[in-house]
Amino acid sequence: MYLVRYAEIGVKSDKARSFFEKLLIENIKRVLKDSNIKVYRERGRIYVETGSEDAESALKRVFGVSSFSPVKTASTNKSQLVEEIAAYAAEILPGALSFAVRCRRTGLHEYTSRDIEREAGEKILNRFNNRLKVNLENPDKIIFVEVRDKQAYLYHQIHHGPGGLPVGSQSRFISLVSGGIDSPVAAYLMMKRGGLPVILYFDNSPHSTGSMIENIIKIRDKLREYASYRRIPVYTVPYSKLLEYVTSTIPGSKYICILCKRYMLRIAEKLALKLKADAIVTGESIGQKASQTMRNMGVISNAVKTIPVIRPLVAFDKLEIEQIAKKIGSFPLSLESNACCIFTPKHPSIKADLERIEKVENSLNLSNILGEVFDNIKKIDG
Ligand code: ATP
Ligand code: MG
Repeated sequence: MYLVRYAEIGVKSDKARSFFEKLLIENIKRVLKDSNIKVYRERGRIYVETGSEDAESALKRVFGVSSFSPVKTASTNKSQLVEEIAAYAAEILPGALSFAVRCRRTGLHEYTSRDIEREAGEKILNRFNNRLKVNLENPDKIIFVEVRDKQAYLYHQIHHGPGGLPVGSQSRFISLVSGGIDSPVAAYLMMKRGGLPVILYFDNSPHSTGSMIENIIKIRDKLREYASYRRIPVYTVPYSKLLEYVTSTIPGSKYICILCKRYMLRIAEKLALKLKADAIVTGESIGQKASQTMRNMGVISNAVKTIPVIRPLVAFDKLEIEQIAKKIGSFPLSLESNACCIFTPKHPSIKADLERIEKVENSLNLSNILGEVFDNIKKIDG
């Protein structure tokens, strides 16, 4: 049995909290894949009874979980409870030099938390023939006791959860995933705030070194582990024809990358409207590439009128992004070098001028090609 704690959800109004709690429970059930699972909800706490063998690694992937502990149930009858705490101590204290018992209680009982701490502490000391010491400040091991109305719980481990809010508490977003290191991390961070991605991949093959579709599918499958295995469709856009047209019409233009990103966003916006997604998310980070200056990001976002373009990584260092990618397991699936685009100009603009870009776009007049590209988007379910 596990005691699951959530942080941010707890400060919400009753109605909102009930919504988040229900979703969190649903996500826990989905991720544990145990048909005999039992889940009890109590104020500020969720108790999960499961036979699932990898419950601990699964709970570490459920957003909304701030921490959790494997717990043992115990009686609320005082002498029985003290006895059970001492038996629990006999299991977990060998090897420790000092301990403390910490008790929290809610409900009506004929004893206080302090009574339990004192009596259990004494009993444990007797059991261990005083080979152990009580240390309330900095003990080797702490035995936590939670007494609720009709049930008490004992535990000594606290595992960190991923934090955040339950996936599904926000709407879908269009996640521009390139197969590089950054974009899966951006998607992950938005999922951590409750969003659910639809992956959009622009396939430039043969103009980037190899198509990344296989990697994108693997990245999708990895992200699903953090979405309690909800569906995350992948949409692929045949993008090479449009890029060929642009680069042959204005060869060597320093605006190629910005134009490329603006057209990507327009296609993403159209897909978002069709799928009722509420935002576009990219893996851009300030200063990481020539096209990723604040000015350029503004000019790129300007191509989208109806929904926000969210860049969760704007202020992250590359190293920090890589650390998250390693932690979540997307790092080995990302191939930075493979994503190299042959159209990148030698000296890309770092200070795009919106008016000039708009003029170039008017002269390119891509509406037909854009329509055709959009009509040829393919969906890969899953
Ligand atoms: P990443 O590591 O995510 O590839 P990057 O540092 O290589 O990012 P860019 O290539 O400039 O940066 O791309 C910036 C963002 O634009 C990416 O994080 C991604 O969200 C989006 N993007 C770029 N290329 C593609 C693509 N082929 N398909 C989908 N999205 C893309
Ligand atoms: Mg890239």
